Amino acid sequence: MCISLGFEPKDNYLIDCGSSKNTSVGNRVFVADDSGSNNPLTPENNSFITSLNSIPTTTNESALHNTVRIFTGVSNYSFSINRQGRHWIRLHFSPFVYQSYNTSMAKFSVSTQSFTLIKEYKPKGGSLVKEYCLNITSDKLVLTFSPFADSFAFVNALEVVSIPDELIPERAKTSPQDGYQSLQKEALETVARVNMGNSSVPPQRDVLSRLWVSDDAYLRRNVLPKFVSNVSAVKFNGTNVTEIFAPADVYGTASMLNSEHDPNTKVNITWTFDVDPGFQHLVRFHFCDIVNVSELVFNVYINSWIVSRYFDLREHTSHIPGAPYYMDFIIRKSDSNQLNVSVGPPDLNELYPNGILNGLEIMKINNSRSSLDVLDSFSSKSSKTKVGLIVGIAAGSFITVVSVVVLFLLCRRRRRLAHVAHLKAEDNFAMNRGDNEIAMFSSSKIGYRFPFVAIQEATGNFSESLVIGVGGFGKVYKGVLRDETKVAVKRGGSQSHQGLAEFRTEIEMLSQFRHRHLVSLIGYCDERNEMIIIYEYMENGTLKDHLYGSKFPCMSWRQRLEICIGSARGLHYLHTGSTLAIIHRDVKSANILLDENFMAKVADFGLSKTGPDLDQTHVSTAVKGSFGYLDPEYLTRQQLTEKSDVYSFGVVMFEILCGRPVIDPSLPREKVNLVEWAMKSQKRGRLEDIVDPNIIDQIKPESLTKFREITEKCLAECGPDRPSMGDVLWNLECALQLQGNTETSSHNGKIHSQVNLSDHSETSVSTAQFSIGDLAGVSMSKVFAQLVREEMREM
Ligand code: ATP
Repeated sequence: MCISLGFEPKDNYLIDCGSSKNTSVGNRVFVADDSGSNNPLTPENNSFITSLNSIPTTTNESALHNTVRIFTGVSNYSFSINRQGRHWIRLHFSPFVYQSYNTSMAKFSVSTQSFTLIKEYKPKGGSLVKEYCLNITSDKLVLTFSPFADSFAFVNALEVVSIPDELIPERAKTSPQDGYQSLQKEALETVARVNMGNSSVPPQRDVLSRLWVSDDAYLRRNVLPKFVSNVSAVKFNGTNVTEIFAPADVYGTASMLNSEHDPNTKVNITWTFDVDPGFQHLVRFHFCDIVNVSELVFNVYINSWIVSRYFDLREHTSHIPGAPYYMDFIIRKSDSNQLNVSVGPPDLNELYPNGILNGLEIMKINNSRSSLDVLDSFSSKSSKTKVGLIVGIAAGSFITVVSVVVLFLLCRRRRRLAHVAHLKAEDNFAMNRGDNEIAMFSSSKIGYRFPFVAIQEATGNFSESLVIGVGGFGKVYKGVLRDETKVAVKRGGSQSHQGLAEFRTEIEMLSQFRHRHLVSLIGYCDERNEMIIIYEYMENGTLKDHLYGSKFPCMSWRQRLEICIGSARGLHYLHTGSTLAIIHRDVKSANILLDENFMAKVADFGLSKTGPDLDQTHVSTAVKGSFGYLDPEYLTRQQLTEKSDVYSFGVVMFEILCGRPVIDPSLPREKVNLVEWAMKSQKRGRLEDIVDPNIIDQIKPESLTKFREITEKCLAECGPDRPSMGDVLWNLECALQLQGNTETSSHNGKIHSQVNLSDHSETSVSTAQFSIGDLAGVSMSKVFAQLVREEMREM
C-alpha cells in the first residue's frame, strides 16, 4: 500500500509478538518473532510466549491478539535502523488471562534509549494501540520492557516504521506571545487522530497505516454540525500537501457549520478531547474545501486561543478547489485535562457564518524529563511537594503583585472611562449575543463603538480649525472626549479612495493588537454610513515631520535611534506576536507617530494583511503601499512576506539617517531617489556624503557602521536575504549601545538611556539608566550592554 502510493519505508518492522508464524493484517505482514532460535527479532531473555486463541482470525487487527509475548524481567527488542529520522513506534496491547497471568495484574514501563514511552502502565479496558513518533538518530533502536516487581509486562504486536521527516514540522507556532518552538528532537505520542464528517478511516486506507476515528464521539452535543462527504473533490496535485499528511478519505469528508437554516447562527462547532495535564500538545488541523459555498472564512480556536482569525481557506490553497491544507500549533501545558478545538463564524456581522474542519490530530510532546508519561511529570513525592511548595510561594507572591497592579490599573482606568462610559455603544464588533461558544473571544478586545454625536461633540462638529492632517482615508481631527482624553479622529471622506475594507482592517487589527509601540485604538463609529476611527492622540505627530520640511527642532542621533528601535519593536510584534504574521504593508515615516515623550508607535493598519503561514512563503496580493518604500520583489512578483515590511523599514532608516524625503525631484538626477543614492554612496565608501549634516558630528563611527550594515541588509533585493525585524531590532539596540553616552537628548525634557561603553566594569551595566518611557526594553538593553562590552573587549 505504502509503495503503491509513493512511499517506501526504509525501516518496516512489523512484528507479531509471541507468534511462530507470520500474520497478515490487510495488506501488511506482521513477522513472527518466535520462528527459530536465531530470529533477530526475538527479544533477549526474560520473556516467553503464548498462543491465546485457538481460532486465529486473519482478516483484521485482532489477528495480532492471538499471541502475546510476556516479560517477567527487563527485556529488549533491538532494531537496526537503516534510515535515521522520524519513525512510528506502535505498541499493540490486548487484555488476556493465561494461567496465572492476568493483564489486570500487569504493571510495566516501556522505553527507548532516549525516551520513556510508558511508565508503570497498568492495562485497563480493552485492546489498544499506542502510537509514538520519534526522531531516531542512531543506527539502532532498543525498546526496553521493564516489568514492575512481582508483576509482568506484555505486548501483542510491534511496529517500527520509518516515515517521511516532513510529516513533523521543524517548528510550530506556540501561544501568541511565545513565537515558535522547535519540534525537531521531540518525541510525540498520538492522543487523537480524528476524521471529521462522522466516519472513520481504517489504517488500510492510509499510506502511513494510521487509524482515523470518527469525530462523532468528540463533538459537543449542543451544536450539531452538518456532515459532508465528497472524496472525489480532493485534489492532491494542487498544493504541496500530499497523502502523506492525511488520505483523501480524510480530506474528502468534513463537519461544517449548519447555518443553512439560520444564517444568523453565531455558534462554533466544538470538539472536546481528553489530554494529560502538564504536557504540551501539537495540534494539527486538516482542511479541504470540498463544499461549494460562496465564501469560506472563519475563526479557528484551540481552547480560548484564536489560532487563526478570519481564516480564509481558499487564500491558503491558492483558490484551487479541493486542494488540501493543514496547519500546526503547539498548545502550552495547562492544568486542564481537556482540550477544546473549535471552528466558527468570525465576529463580523457581514460575513456569512461559516466553519469547516476535515481532520484533526493531537499529539502529546515529551516533557523536560524526556518522558511521555504523566507519571514522569514529577518523579517522586518529595520533589512533587517541593515543586508544589515553590510553585505555591511563587504563585502566591505573583498573584499578590499582580492583584495590586491590576487593582491600581482598574481604579485608574475606571476613573478615566467613567465619563466615556455613556458614550459606549450598545454593542460592538464581537456581537457576542450571550452565546457560550462564541464568547471565546472577549469583547474587551474590540474597540468601542461611539455614537456619532459624541464624536461631533469631541471635535467641535468636525471643526476645520481642529484638522491636524489629511491622508488617503480622509481628514484627521484633534478631539477631546468628555473625560478630557485627547484623541485623533480620522473620518473617512465620501470621496475616500481607501474604502470600507481598509476601515474594517484597521479596526480589526488595532483591536487585536495592543502594544506600546503600536498606536492604540480608542473606538470607532459606523453610524449614518460614517467611517470614523478614534485613536490615542500622538502629541508630536509623524516622524516624517520631524525629519525634514518643518520648523521642528532637529532630532539628535540618539533620539533617532530610539525612534527606530521603538518602531522596530512595534513591527517585530506584528510579525511574531500572533498566530499568523501580520504584514503592515505601508511602513513609512508618515506612519510612525511620536507621543509626548517622542516614543514611536506604528500607525495606519488599513492595508495590513495576514502573513504567510508556516508552510507557505508568501501571500499573493495586489500591490499596495506607498511610493518610494515598496519592496522591489513585491512590486514585480506581487508576493508579500514580512520581509516587504523589512525593506520599507530599511528605507525609513535611510530617511532617518539622511534627514531627507525618499523621493526628492528637486535634487540632481542621481540624488532623487534616496535608496539608490544612499546605496551608491555606501558602495563608494562615502556614506558621510549623505548623512544629515545636522547630526554628522554626533554619530560615533561604530554606531554608524552598525546602522549602515543593518540598513543595507534590510534593502537586499531578495526577501530571504533580508533580516527579520527581530534581527533588525537587535542590531539597532547594538547601534544605540555603541553610540554610548556621548549626548543626552533632551527633547521635551525626556531622559534617555546612558550606557558608558568606555567603562568596562560591571557597574556600567548596573548604573545604566534606561528610558523611563520604555521599560519593556530594559532587560534587552542590559543584555546588550553586556554583549557589546564583550564585543569591544575582543576588538
Ligand atoms: P495615507 O493614509 O495616504 O497613508 P497618511 O498616513 O499621512 O497617509 P493619515 O494616517 O490619515 O494619513 O494621517 C494624516 C495625518 O494626521 C498624519 O500625517 C498625522 O499628522 C495626523 N495623525 C494621524 N493619526 C494621528 C494620531 N493618532 N495622533 C496625532 N496625529 C495623527
